[in-house]
Amino acid sequence: MDRTFVMVKPDGVQRGLVGEIVARFEDKGLKLVAARFEALPEKRVNDQYKEHLEKPFFPSLKKYIMGGPCFLMVWEGRNVVAIVRRVIGVTNPQEAAPGTIRGDFGIDIGRNVIHASDSPESAAREIAIHFKPAELCSYTRIDESIIYEY
Ligand code: UDP
Ligand code: MG
Repeated sequence: MDRTFVMVKPDGVQRGLVGEIVARFEDKGLKLVAARFEALPEKRVNDQYKEHLEKPFFPSLKKYIMGGPCFLMVWEGRNVVAIVRRVIGVTNPQEAAPGTIRGDFGIDIGRNVIHASDSPESAAREIAIHFKPAELCSYTRIDESIIYEY
């Protein structure tokens, strides 16, 4: 099974969207295998967004992400990385389709509520930044045999 890293950003936490967001992934049939509520230290913000370190928006991105606690999660399922990117919607909430998390809950690109890994390689890298292997739980969801055809 595939895994991906997902994080409700400080605006999503402040607006009370954690429960709604977790419910969307649960309802889809994905499996939660790790979660933590915490304010991210600077080092892990830099590691998480290393491809953006030199971008003009990086200082504001860092201030945003360090502006309050985040809700960090690892979700598991077949092809989960691509599925979760579709569920959250495109980066700019003004362009994100209605029905997606960013499309339903955001307006500005710099306050887009949620992060999710953009490829299986980034997922592996980001999970390792935020979680120890022992923090990832292996278990069978009771409805797995009916969610998956094979
Ligand atoms: N971001 C921003 N301004 C931009 C581009 C990105 O504030 O012009 C922020 C936004 O919070 C985004 C994050 O930087 O989610 C990472 O950007 P990326 O292009 O990786 O988008 P994502 O993978 O989150 O959709
Ligand atoms: Mg990205």
